[in-house]
Amino acid sequence: MAPKTDIEIARAARKKPILEIGERLGIGADHLLPYGHDKAKVSQDFIDGLKDRQSGKLILVTAINPTPAGEGKTTTTVGLGDGLNAIGKKACICIREASLGPNFGMKGGAAGGGYAQVVPMEDMNLHFTGDFHAITSAHNLLAAMIDNHVYWGNEEDIDIRRVTWRRVMDMNDRALRQITTSLGGVANGFPRETGFDITVASEVMAILCLAKDLKDLQERLGAMIVAYRRDKSPVYARDIKADGAMTVLLKDAMQPNLVQTLENNPAFVHGGPFANIAHGCNSVIATKTALKLADYVVTEAGFGADLGAEKFMNIKCRKAGLAPDCVVVVATVRAMKMNGGVAKGDLGAENVEAVKAGCANLGRHIENVKGFGVPVVVGINHFAGDTEAEIAAVKAYVEGQGSEAILCKHWADGSKGMTEMATRVAEVADSGKADFRTLYPDDMSLFEKIEAVAHKIYRAGAVVADGKIRAQLKEWEDQGYGNLPVCMAKTQDSFSTDPGQRGAPTGFDLPVREVRLSAGAGFVVAICGEIMTMPGLPRQPSAEVIRLNDAGEVEGLF
Ligand code: ADP
Ligand code: MG
Repeated sequence: MAPKTDIEIARAARKKPILEIGERLGIGADHLLPYGHDKAKVSQDFIDGLKDRQSGKLILVTAINPTPAGEGKTTTTVGLGDGLNAIGKKACICIREASLGPNFGMKGGAAGGGYAQVVPMEDMNLHFTGDFHAITSAHNLLAAMIDNHVYWGNEEDIDIRRVTWRRVMDMNDRALRQITTSLGGVANGFPRETGFDITVASEVMAILCLAKDLKDLQERLGAMIVAYRRDKSPVYARDIKADGAMTVLLKDAMQPNLVQTLENNPAFVHGGPFANIAHGCNSVIATKTALKLADYVVTEAGFGADLGAEKFMNIKCRKAGLAPDCVVVVATVRAMKMNGGVAKGDLGAENVEAVKAGCANLGRHIENVKGFGVPVVVGINHFAGDTEAEIAAVKAYVEGQGSEAILCKHWADGSKGMTEMATRVAEVADSGKADFRTLYPDDMSLFEKIEAVAHKIYRAGAVVADGKIRAQLKEWEDQGYGNLPVCMAKTQDSFSTDPGQRGAPTGFDLPVREVRLSAGAGFVVAICGEIMTMPGLPRQPSAEVIRLNDAGEVEGLF
């Protein structure tokens, strides 16, 4: 019999009413705002009342550089949450919401996989509780208000060639990347070039995920730069008077969403910023709320540890005053083989030598994470074809690095496959060994911050940036933005900017092609390589096979 698909497993879940899940975390029914029977938002009032409580332990799940073989960070995050609950700990999961773009493009949702999933997975991967709609609306309201401001006399003296605020939608649609608006005559305004990004790339999304509360949200929205005047001075969203109405549109979206795992354990699914031009983690408000309600919180950062974990530490933790107690680095035997030079089609055959050769990538990530002062446990996400000898090779390598690797079978067995890992992670998190530090201080210059990441995390040789970029960074420092962290936008596939360079390269140049100021979110984006903010659909998008079956169930989504 063919193994069950993710969606078949999810559909067979015996879900509990969401009020019961909330009750387990001590959230009273009056503080849960149900969206149907299996999803709810947690009220802002309730969250405000948690301030003085002690926080639980924070566990970050990250991974090696992704390969087409697949790593399984979300699956491991969910499995570890279930594993901790199964050994009697009070644990909660925090992950990101899914974007419609990738769901209808490349196969693959964001709810985990196998017997380690969050449900209802169809909802989570489709419209869910409408947060992305709210973000899209708030973003586009500002866009409409900017063009309207210009139309009615342009009191702020906006240079319409320098409007940086684009429009967004939650879809992969390359036709909208670059467009001309306001065509058709005087009544339609002033024609100008602009374009669309995908909603997850919106600065509003990054802000929602970093804001402390609604007041902070509004201040950050107001501080976003939307255009420049002819004298090059910035125009802020608050100059257009959009921040108040945007906050109104986002008021419900700011409240974290509670759902459950297949094993009926609590999971917050909230926010989903891009991991390239933004920081790629779920919301601060969800993570902090979970920490007040559970003894252990397991969360995930996007891409590999060079991007996701680095930003989790240097942006999210720095800004929110969080400190992880343990980091799990997910690796797979298959990905080690690919890093060791094996082609995707040959991953089925045992190849211990290739596994050994590919471990250098894992070793680099372990060392990097330890550099943040946080202990590491490697989770080997078990795939059916992995052999004993290959698994032993990974374990031996990790031990040689002064760390430990534990085999995890959550995808096939749920929490039963996670007992050893959960026990060890809880021990490490409780050990008090973590002594978290960020990679660079706030008061370092922006260029030196980029260099710190390039040298200490990527192991690049020189950071290459022309005079214009250095001058731009200097100008922002003079304007008071010098204390911001940097948000690196680089390929996720390699430590370098060349996606084909697997393993652990050193000494390569890191070219910074462009810098952008996200003044509301509070970081400076350094773009190193081609970064797509509006993806396209592949030749055969998964949308072609997504359909409702005769029972009215969604098919083909995953
Ligand atoms: P990530 O969060 O790293 O992007 P996911 O956890 O979302 O990865 O997993 C990606 C896909 O890989 C999912 O469809 C999941 O079902 C599959 N997968 C994960 N772990 C395993 C495993 N051990 N065996 C088979 N498939 C797996
Ligand atoms: Mg994931």
